[in-house]
Amino acid sequence: MSYQHLLAELDLGFTRLRNRVVMGSMHTGMEDRFWNYPKLAAYFRERAKGGVGLIVTGGISPNRQGWLLPFGGTLNSVFDLRNHRLLTQAVHAEGGKIALQILHAGRYGYQPLVVSASALKSPISKFKPRALSVAGIAKTVRDYARCARLAQRAGYDGVEIMGSEGYLLNQFLCPRTNRRSDQYGGSIENRMRLAREIVERVRAVCGERFIVVYRISLIDLVEGGNTWDETVQVAQALEAAGVTIFNTGIGWHEARVPTIVTSVPRAAFAELSARLKAAVKVPVIVSNRINTPEVAEDLLAQGAGDLVSMARPLLADPDFVVKTAEGRTQEINTCIACNQACLDHTFRNQRATCLVNPRAGRETELVYRPVSTPQAVRSIAVVGAGPAGLSAATVAAWRGHRVTLFDANAQVGGQFNLAMRVPGKEEFSETIRYFQSQLQRHQVDVRLNTRVDPALLAAGGYDDVIVATGIVPRRPSIAGIDGPNVLSYVDVLRGAPVGRRVAVIGAGGIGFDVSEFLLHRADEPLPMPRDAWLDEWGVDLTVRERGGLKPPVAAQPAREIWLLQRKPGKLGMGLGKTSGWVHRATLAKNGVKMLAGVSYLEIAARGLKIARDGAEEWLDVDTIVVCAGQESLRNLHPQNVANGGGQAGAPRYHLIGGAKVATELDAKRAIREGAELAAAL
Ligand code: FAD
Ligand code: NAP
Ligand code: SF4
Repeated sequence: MSYQHLLAELDLGFTRLRNRVVMGSMHTGMEDRFWNYPKLAAYFRERAKGGVGLIVTGGISPNRQGWLLPFGGTLNSVFDLRNHRLLTQAVHAEGGKIALQILHAGRYGYQPLVVSASALKSPISKFKPRALSVAGIAKTVRDYARCARLAQRAGYDGVEIMGSEGYLLNQFLCPRTNRRSDQYGGSIENRMRLAREIVERVRAVCGERFIVVYRISLIDLVEGGNTWDETVQVAQALEAAGVTIFNTGIGWHEARVPTIVTSVPRAAFAELSARLKAAVKVPVIVSNRINTPEVAEDLLAQGAGDLVSMARPLLADPDFVVKTAEGRTQEINTCIACNQACLDHTFRNQRATCLVNPRAGRETELVYRPVSTPQAVRSIAVVGAGPAGLSAATVAAWRGHRVTLFDANAQVGGQFNLAMRVPGKEEFSETIRYFQSQLQRHQVDVRLNTRVDPALLAAGGYDDVIVATGIVPRRPSIAGIDGPNVLSYVDVLRGAPVGRRVAVIGAGGIGFDVSEFLLHRADEPLPMPRDAWLDEWGVDLTVRERGGLKPPVAAQPAREIWLLQRKPGKLGMGLGKTSGWVHRATLAKNGVKMLAGVSYLEIAARGLKIARDGAEEWLDVDTIVVCAGQESLRNLHPQNVANGGGQAGAPRYHLIGGAKVATELDAKRAIREGAELAAAL
């Protein structure tokens, strides 16, 4: 594939973008504190160096009312210019371009000063907004213009005015949140007045030679959202007001339809940006669930947009564009849309990073340096080619160490080989593919089908042994647990036959995943085709009705499932903030009975006997699947090795990933621990 569309320059008349890749706005948490701007500059510099055409910063508020969080990132005074110049200079030094996103959170602000079109609280925030007065609106317009002009003075190439995802401008645009009866409410002409005035004023103060991106909501996915005809009217009015480029947004944050998690089909909403492109003359950016150069190139070739926005994929791999241009797409570290280290961190007020790339957002802290002298090269054995071992082996080899990687299995990837069998998680295979490319590139000696024992390690004469042997599934002691009707999640995901009525013991991430796996019928195609997915979630891409919602098609689960946990309270509370609700909603739609506060009494041929709320009952099921957590496997560690490490001339032993601590282990920790250890060896 030549990627001629993706890599083509874009001439905007007064300036040029070097290619069609836009790094979409992502809140990293670093924008909010001035002392983090040097780190933020390093983060952007790396992405500009990797070839991105246009970078859009995380959201910066034009005033205090617009803060997402108390004291969130704001650009409203000349005293802020010094920090922002660090960012623009870093990007320009690498030949890139950067736009500041102006984001007024409106009623999504998690702070008491919030304002909106009307005094209506959002379901996802505890603060009720004050309705802006007409004078308050005029001041808001002035604040946007001041912010844009300051951005221009700080050296930004443009601004992106955030008009989607349910933030302030969306709140004015839609009847759901705009109940005003003045010149800013009622008809669509009135509801769009604020957005139009802002674009006009920004254009007026910044002049013609400044990029003004407007991020427009193409489908709101909430009741009381706009119709397609209204969206086109808004776009045409904003184009006339001075927009240079339209970026596109899908769904409000309060929508109950997933828009970016792994289970959303790739480019599921791209046909909407194609329709917008046909309705306006300025370039359109296509977005949402685009994470490979192939998908991006296809979309541009088919005319779905003029540019492609990728946000998380550039957290995962800052060199996405360079690798594409050099024909090294197999080496791209693909974002798997898990949200675990980016959005979930943001929602917990932690700095955003990336599960598959622990350096993201920590470019100045987690630094990989090549080994300085031939004497410093170490001979390293890594035992276990799961995420932890793969990460350690590839970083150590990149640095120049001599690395041998062992795994008892016939393929690398560890538990990711099971994870990728879960419907909606097929893309976990991309991480395995990425690591395979790195093993090859950095000449790691990979020995598969090799169960390592102390003798093999001793014979190797290694300087370091990294024990990354992972876990073993926990087998709870319940009477009858060894019966023929009991399977572990490993058996199930490897294809063992399972009956029609199933009890799943344990409702952690794996209990949820296994339940989803069992709901799918064998004849259903995976990954789920886009149209079936749209029907399941009740999405109507014609957007004839407000918000683009339609009645969802009833699910037809393959099995009847009971998902059980011992602790009281709602199931799945330990799942990710931004993805857990999708898993819970999926199981609920498929009729899975989720029971908490359960004691397991006995397993017999008729099923599983439990106690709950003081009463005993039999669940008459054909199969019981155990997903009761995991325990570390570390029988190779010195304390378990006769005459093992710690002696003169003996290797240094290191424990990482599941082998170190199995509790609350996820791939994020496994990959980070591997990288941190290898960076320090
Ligand atoms: P492992 O992946 O367990 O790898 C250990 C490796 O060591 C194995 O390949 C094993 O064969 C090898 N090994 C063991 N002993 C020896 C020996 N003596 N000699 C040679 N080789 C040996 N995590 C997330 O963060 N997000 C998710 O969405 C997610 N979903 C999951 C879904 C499923 C169904 C499963 C099963 C797991 C999921 N996980 C998820 C968990 C994630 O996969 C683990 O946290 C991660 O794999 C742990 O990495 P590890 O390298 O420590 O161990
Ligand atoms: P887990 O999250 O620790 O869940 C284990 C479940 O088993 C819990 O429901 C626990 O709840 C139950 N349990 C524990 N000990 C038990 C016992 N002795 N008898 C019966 N039940 C017992 O672990 P997991 O589901 O195996 O997942 C492993 C790791 O993979 C997790 O840490 C997770 O982060 C990661 N993962 C993540 C995702 C994701 O989507 N982010 C998906 C899959 C896996 P009770 O004790 O209340 O019964
Ligand atoms: Fe993508 Fe997950 Fe990394 Fe976020 S944490 S950028 S979703 S791979």
